Amino acid sequence: MSLKLYDTTLRDGSQKEGVSFSVVDKLRIARKLDELGIHYIEGGWPGSNPKDAEFFEQARDLKLANAQIAVFGSTRRPKTRAETDGNLVALAESGAKIATIVGKSSDLQVTQVLETSLEENLSMIAESIQYLAERGMTAIFDAEHFFDGFRSDSQYALRCLEVAAEAGAACLVLCDTNGGALPDEVARAVEAAVKAVAAVRAVAAVESGSAEVGIHTHNDSGLAVANTLAAVKAGATHIQGTINGYGERCGNANLCTIIPILKLKMGVDCISDARLAHLTEVSRFVSEAANLVPDASLPYVGLSAFSHKGGLHVSGVSKWADAYQHIDPTRVGNQLRVVVSELSGRGNIIYKAKERGLDLPLKGAEAQKLLEQVKLLESRGFQYDNAEASFELLVRRARPDYQPPFELVDFMVVVEKRRRSPTGSGPEEMLSEAMVKVRVGPEIMHTVAEGNGPVNALDQALRKALLQFYPSLAPVTLVDYKVRILEESTGTESQVRVLIESSDGKDTWRTVGSSTNIIEASWLALADSLEYWLVKHESVSR
Ligand SMILES: [Zn+2]
Repeated sequence: MSLKLYDTTLRDGSQKEGVSFSVVDKLRIARKLDELGIHYIEGGWPGSNPKDAEFFEQARDLKLANAQIAVFGSTRRPKTRAETDGNLVALAESGAKIATIVGKSSDLQVTQVLETSLEENLSMIAESIQYLAERGMTAIFDAEHFFDGFRSDSQYALRCLEVAAEAGAACLVLCDTNGGALPDEVARAVEAAVKAVAAVRAVAAVESGSAEVGIHTHNDSGLAVANTLAAVKAGATHIQGTINGYGERCGNANLCTIIPILKLKMGVDCISDARLAHLTEVSRFVSEAANLVPDASLPYVGLSAFSHKGGLHVSGVSKWADAYQHIDPTRVGNQLRVVVSELSGRGNIIYKAKERGLDLPLKGAEAQKLLEQVKLLESRGFQYDNAEASFELLVRRARPDYQPPFELVDFMVVVEKRRRSPTGSGPEEMLSEAMVKVRVGPEIMHTVAEGNGPVNALDQALRKALLQFYPSLAPVTLVDYKVRILEESTGTESQVRVLIESSDGKDTWRTVGSSTNIIEASWLALADSLEYWLVKHESVSR
């Protein structure tokens, strides 16, 4: 079965609350989707906003290996001509070769919302598609509210598809716009649509004879993926969805769930094995671009999708990896994880250390001690899932012969807000200064530095001190700094968790700090970051 994947993350997906992609984000995401092997990438609606128009302007230079960019719009307005419809003209001028237009296919939507006649709606569909086809574009018709329409007047809903196919649409996409359809009714409606479109083909009204049926679902009933799969089984060959299921309300059909199901469970070869192995990376990339915390419980690609916390499961997976997982996580680029927590046994710690490639011989008593420590720290808000460098340091520190490359004696941070001019007028500025005292071997170093904020000042002061002993530390920089107020605590006493990502230009690593004081939490994560690098790169034998 040949199946086409159509991604609408950049259009429908960006309707998710809190998401606003910049043009640069959109271009980066488009490149990622292309690498994943997506066939069509819907870039946006140039007729609706200038940002999308700008995207299509820039997308002309986008060199994609697999995917084609699709532009989105709607059928012409009632009682007008396609040639004079601004939104259709914008599609034709977008530079894209594929145009997807949405139109009504439900009788009630036509009469109640569009407030026009059923006949006029059919003309709107046909003329809009003809307009695009005449300009050399491949037209895809998104039949809005198709399943609701099929329920209330199936004849009319199918007629809309036939008219679109006759006018030259390459694909008729059945949309569950309100997300209320159930899998069995989706299957029935898709079967009817496939039959109707085949009949149009049979009378050779469509010269190419290639019109196919597609599916576009929303997750309002938690069934977007199930409905998509039901449609595929009933004959749909074009699938629309978004990365991570992003979309308005409860979201769109999640391609990160659909693709692995098609590939690994239904034997549909929609993308190559090698590309499938990048799925988790693409999922995280898009959540990063959307500035959203990756949803850990997403099937296949979530951080927790293959995580084991309970001691019994951990003991199971350490004997046989597939004991508690439905697929091999590496096929989708994810991994089996063992979570160390208050529920864990010693096995979790040993497994975790091994997973990190730590060849430290953790003896029984040391492992027990380390487990107690991790439990204590987790109860104070530390979390090691995303801070493998801090975890590795914990393991190393559990060894009696561990020598830290430096130790903090004390630090002080001053934050001052003042006006530049002595008269009290002029712009205000914030000044931050940090004083740090660290011990390296027998020596104590005392440094002061300014920064654009208290954490930056602290970072600068610590670096200044350590560089005198470890000049090789110079390329290490902080690349990301995230603060999270922990939900379990409230009020001004809130526990704060700081996650830091550092890089030396070659490798990146993550560390964590937690405290009721944001400066202390930051300090802990900062100090871990530098200590980790030094332990890895300097033979510390002081
Ligand atoms: Zn939609």
